[in-house]
Amino acid sequence: MLASKLYSPTLREIPADAVVKSHQYMLKAGMMRKLANGLYTFLPLAFRSIYKLETIIREEMAAIECQEILMPIVQPAEIWQQSGRWDVYGQEMFRLKDRHDHEYCLGPTHEEMVTTLVHLDISSYKQLPVSVFQMQNKYRDEKRPRFGLMRSREFIMKDAYTFDIDEAGLEKQYQLMYDAYTRIFTRCGLHFRQVLADSGAIGGSGSHEFEVIADSGEADIVYCENCDFAANVEAVLPNEIKGNIKSDKEKECVATPDKSTIEAVCDFLHIPVEQSIKAVVYKLDDKIVLALVRGDHEVNEVRLQNLYAAVDISMATGEDLESVGLVGGYISPVGLARNEKLDIIVDTTVMSMEDACCGGNAPDTHYIHVNPKRDFGDVRVETIRIIDQNDVCPKCGGIIHLKKGIEVGQVFKLGTKYSEKLGCTYLDNTGKSHPMVMGCYGIGVTRTIAASIEQNHDDDGIIWPVAIAPYEVVIVPANNKDEEVMAVAGELYEALQDNADNVVLDDRNERAGIKFKDADLIGYPLRVTVGKKWKESGVVEIKLRRTGEVIEVAKEDCQEKVKSLLQEFHEKNL
Ligand SMILES: [Zn+2]
Repeated sequence: MLASKLYSPTLREIPADAVVKSHQYMLKAGMMRKLANGLYTFLPLAFRSIYKLETIIREEMAAIECQEILMPIVQPAEIWQQSGRWDVYGQEMFRLKDRHDHEYCLGPTHEEMVTTLVHLDISSYKQLPVSVFQMQNKYRDEKRPRFGLMRSREFIMKDAYTFDIDEAGLEKQYQLMYDAYTRIFTRCGLHFRQVLADSGAIGGSGSHEFEVIADSGEADIVYCENCDFAANVEAVLPNEIKGNIKSDKEKECVATPDKSTIEAVCDFLHIPVEQSIKAVVYKLDDKIVLALVRGDHEVNEVRLQNLYAAVDISMATGEDLESVGLVGGYISPVGLARNEKLDIIVDTTVMSMEDACCGGNAPDTHYIHVNPKRDFGDVRVETIRIIDQNDVCPKCGGIIHLKKGIEVGQVFKLGTKYSEKLGCTYLDNTGKSHPMVMGCYGIGVTRTIAASIEQNHDDDGIIWPVAIAPYEVVIVPANNKDEEVMAVAGELYEALQDNADNVVLDDRNERAGIKFKDADLIGYPLRVTVGKKWKESGVVEIKLRRTGEVIEVAKEDCQEKVKSLLQEFHEKNL
């Protein structure tokens, strides 16, 4: 490809709404253009990266005999009503009506549709297992589309579904898919972790997320230095911490005027924050839930949602508090009882505290010397706190690390949740009917591209892993006016091109400095420069984008050197 013909309108300025690097660089490098909030057109450079990633995915799916299909994007409301998700999916679903007033949605995912499909075609155990996938645009009406491709409203997803006769069959498919995903992200040159995920919301018995490690990630993940433990923090039950303070003092109500935060109260009473109890009030569907954790801990809201099987979770409003007689800022379970409208749930770690401080259930007061076992009434006790850096590995007791991750893939054991609701059954060898056992598996294709940039960039631009780089090499003639330089650059271009269409010749009539800047911005793994050095001594420069290393070779050796470098990058997934 000649750079003069390449449709990649680079920008000098970064649009103000682009805050993360992938968003900034993809716009700046002319890889994509914004149409409206969360909607993007992929220009050739982005599309080539997407295409390469899709090719890797297709190869790995073929290797595990998962077959490609393509289902409609527009899905009838009926199948979602049958699964019970039409009403619970909420505002993230794009809904529309046809001219006959029939309701539809733009598919945010395809469990309902694929289950309906298989239900019609498969009826005998002899036809199972079935393993299918598709590569398709998906739609989610994000409240706040942001971060470019990380949270857009239209995105490309690879979604796969498996149907088996039993759990053992599902286990096998799950492992096949898990291993295939591991190979896919490894081949993409990404530094990632497979982490145990919470599977509560979608239902099912097990799930892993594939998280690309990057500071800009939205997921909090934890892994052990010592063993193979790795999980999304929301999926972890941290060890209970036994209180080590013993006290038989009676609880006492003290005045704490205008001290409604944990920090302010502890400061005022000269109590370490670990000796305080924090109350957080949630609204879980229609129920008000008072959750209590140690002052320095945070509530695991996903865990809470699962414990109450709630669709929605939000912080309780002042009105909610009033409706159950609570005083914001001064809440505790002391003297409170669970009732139909209000539940009280206490973290296990809180229950072994003694001599603690908590709200007084009246304005400007707190209790001190509280012993939850003695002073709390009937409460529900569960582990509801989030693991933090002071914890140890729940599996082996080793040192843990907390990191940010970008979720690029997820594998789920769905079980029979959808097949039961949508009547997707098979007959066994005795003629008895059973629901099929399902798994579902997704890769955010466009998000993986963004995640790759989040993980691989510097101040000058993108550093593509070679497997998903839009082009592998750019050839830069340093001076367009020098015919000899242009001729040699053209010669190298022809030689390196080698029918693979992975090379760009920057023939634009620009200064060398601008070409170098754009090469770094777009992130070609290799840059070959023909300039002064060739004039002086017949050598061309090969610059490695990732390390900045410059290798000088005689023009005659350039082709072979570039090929061997690229081969090394591919082999080592660089
Ligand atoms: Zn461990």
